[in-house]
Amino acid sequence: MAKKYVYFFGTGAAEGNMRMKDTLGGKGANLAEMAGIGLPVPPGFTISTEVCALYYKNRKRIPEVVRLEVEKNLKKLEKAAGRAFGDAKDPLLVSVRSGARASMPGMMDTILNLGLNDRTAAALVARTGNERFVFDCYRRFVQMYGDVVLGLRPVHKDDIDPFEEIIESKKRERGVRADADLTAADLEDLVARFKAAIKERTGHDFPDDPRRQLWGAIGAVFGSWMNERAIAYRKMYDIPEAWGTAVNVQLMVFGNMGADSGTGVAFTRDAATGENVFYGEYLMNAQGEDVVAGIRTPRPIAELRKDDPKAYAELERIRRELEKHYADMMDIEFTIERGKLYMLQCRVGKRTAFAAIRIAVDMVGEKLISEKEALSRIEPDQLNQLLRPVFDPAEKQAAVKAGRLLAKGLNAGPGAASGRIVFNSADAEAWARKGEKAILTRIETSPEDIRGMSAAEGILTARGGMTSHAALVARQMGRVCVAGCGDLVIDYGGRAMTVKGRELKEGDWVSIDGTTGEVIEGRIATKPSEVLQVLIERTLDPARAPVYRTFAKVMAWADKHRALGIRANADQPDQARNALAFGAEGIGLCRTEHMFFGEGKIGPMREMILADAAEERKAALAKLLPFQRRDFEGIFEVMAGRPVTIRTIDPPLHEFLPHEEKGQREIAADMGIPYEKVRERVESLHELNPMLGFRGCRLGIIYPEITEMQARAIFEAAATVKKKKRIPVLPEVMIPLVGHVKELRHQERIVRAAAEAVMKEQGVGFDYRVGTMIEVPRGAVTADEIATVAEFFSFGTNDLTQTTLGVSRDDAGRFLIPYVEKGIYAKDPFEVIDREGVGQLMRLAVERGRRTRPALKLGICGEHGGDPSSVEFCHLIGLDYVSCSPYRVPIARLAAARAAILNAPKPAAKKPAKAARTARKR
Ligand code: PEP
Ligand code: MG
Repeated sequence: MAKKYVYFFGTGAAEGNMRMKDTLGGKGANLAEMAGIGLPVPPGFTISTEVCALYYKNRKRIPEVVRLEVEKNLKKLEKAAGRAFGDAKDPLLVSVRSGARASMPGMMDTILNLGLNDRTAAALVARTGNERFVFDCYRRFVQMYGDVVLGLRPVHKDDIDPFEEIIESKKRERGVRADADLTAADLEDLVARFKAAIKERTGHDFPDDPRRQLWGAIGAVFGSWMNERAIAYRKMYDIPEAWGTAVNVQLMVFGNMGADSGTGVAFTRDAATGENVFYGEYLMNAQGEDVVAGIRTPRPIAELRKDDPKAYAELERIRRELEKHYADMMDIEFTIERGKLYMLQCRVGKRTAFAAIRIAVDMVGEKLISEKEALSRIEPDQLNQLLRPVFDPAEKQAAVKAGRLLAKGLNAGPGAASGRIVFNSADAEAWARKGEKAILTRIETSPEDIRGMSAAEGILTARGGMTSHAALVARQMGRVCVAGCGDLVIDYGGRAMTVKGRELKEGDWVSIDGTTGEVIEGRIATKPSEVLQVLIERTLDPARAPVYRTFAKVMAWADKHRALGIRANADQPDQARNALAFGAEGIGLCRTEHMFFGEGKIGPMREMILADAAEERKAALAKLLPFQRRDFEGIFEVMAGRPVTIRTIDPPLHEFLPHEEKGQREIAADMGIPYEKVRERVESLHELNPMLGFRGCRLGIIYPEITEMQARAIFEAAATVKKKKRIPVLPEVMIPLVGHVKELRHQERIVRAAAEAVMKEQGVGFDYRVGTMIEVPRGAVTADEIATVAEFFSFGTNDLTQTTLGVSRDDAGRFLIPYVEKGIYAKDPFEVIDREGVGQLMRLAVERGRRTRPALKLGICGEHGGDPSSVEFCHLIGLDYVSCSPYRVPIARLAAARAAILNAPKPAAKKPAKAARTARKR
């Protein structure tokens, strides 16, 4: 059978369905699905995403086989619509829209009202009797086609749209302010002026033949797959270029046919808060783009109940049907043409983290989805939004009282942001690069602004509703956003805006509250989120914290479904307390060297380093011991019997000494030793590659008394906490940077000797473990030997990445960022585990280590332990736990649950019964 490139759909029947997104794109697949379940979808057809690749391969031309198939489907469409393309009596008009596999809102092109020329326009006037409507459609069509297909658009970031310029001058000539005040004759004149401007500025004649229009539009939509903003968006969201876009050609229905027509966009639930209410906006007598472009401010969907009760009731019914059918919150577009409702699009709705979590939890309650499904719908990184700050209420109140509340817009993206005003995306990026917080302030945003929106702290727009581009994209990115703030009068050229008479310039501070829509002059401090206030600050009662309660439910489900244990990296008792509050089950890494920088400790540490003989060193270490012991006691007390992995000293010693003369002279004076001695010691500790130098277990091997002191401090603390406070303890002593089993054995002996001695001295017994970090390739490769000594491994993937890739973890940014941009590494390997390289070494170490010691405990404590993709990898290679910073613990818990759910072995497909198989054979 010949390959199929084009798929037809019409009410009650469709050649595609929602599972065919790869072929039909999201829009096409869902149009087919809606048509298939009998929803009122205008008929049309989808040209598959495969054709996009063919188009580029074929030097940007549509292959002949596809042309023939399109022609066939056009005939079918004419039949379904009962109208013919280019007909002089009752012409068929179509829309031509893009639609990739993943939603890319507004990134590619769309053309509406295609099929109009002077002849079909006259026919339409005769048929509808509505001249103004027809010329409104016609001028929109010429404008869109002129921009998208023929390329007449602004060149410079401060330029205004050439078509808008013509409209403005027409309005000035006619002495009117609103577009709606232009008459049919004015609009007809605009069509002529538009065509003339296109000819003059691009050299192209506007095509009158509808078929030429159609092929031009189809080519332009495929062409828009490679436009700059689509490429930027794909990069940002990891959408492969090879996917391509589909093209949907569909019968036009008109929301601008008069007062009984309209158009709208809606979410089946509130996309900002997740509340189960119908949420959307519409405009009567308008076309779709008017709602999203933010040119007129639309009305809330609830008002449609009054404007058109019949259409509203049907929409409500469809809302429920779609949620049941898709078992998700949906984003829909609809048009009412002379009182008849049509569905133009549906897709799974984008939502804030707040909404994602709430909807998932509510839908479990409503029995629409399972707990597992709920967990797989919440991206772990979305939890960051719940952990994001809000304004300090007192400071905000004071600001409002002082009259700094400038205006109020729509609360389009929750959260609080304070930053400096910038008026275009390039500037937002530039300020962000300087390390400044920017609030991108625009009349309205367009897909061109995507990079600036990403760079900005928050987004503020003067026009547009909750479903405007700014609002959608901001929510998706997790940016704070206040949209449609009509009081802002923005002057791009002057780089300033006035708000109710007050002038603000580029660089001035402004604060926006995306939860309430308030815009406040100046800077306001922020405060932790509800979750943080309950868990960390303990200033909020969970009973008064609904967001926290939903969060807690998700965490409880995650814990039920995950296989990985979750620990935290913490060096101080208060950090351990936070870790526990976030749900950590142990400490996976306590970096003891951080303790040496505390009050009163750096002095003895420096004495130790400057000592000439072992005796001197021991004397200095004896001063450090009580400090370390106290720190460990605090952590053991908080962790109450949960495992606490404590690592012996790791960094190169020069890190504890000042490198400049002034500091060195101060130390010398403090310690009563000559300055030259300090300088010489610093010089002797200087290394060309300190990260590959005298650090890790090498320190404890050359200076065994350091390990001895640390082990003693750990075990004395354990003994005290167990004996005096009757709190159970489980210390795990971890030796860093081990590459050879003999290194570990050397250190292990010291540690075990200290344990035995302390237990004997104190007359108390406790369990403890000795293990190692696996963070150099030799350690991973010889894991079988190392496991003869180690009771546990913890992968130090920061160093393991550095040593495996031969890339410095401290200053590789200069080439690593371009490396990622060039796709050499898909992600920064210090952020996401390089599965093919570092990951292979980990896998090997796991296998070899467990072969020697089946009960070997395996974990990770590099920064990757809090990265969702890396957590998944740890699950896949069978680690026992991941350890990350306390604030990432909730993310790791959810990532671990999703790893277990999404990688669960699929139940084996049932084989047909033996008898049946034999029967078939016969
Ligand atoms: C590591 O190398 O991954 C690790 C956790 O140790 P550090 O970052 O302290 O070197
Ligand atoms: Mg390390």
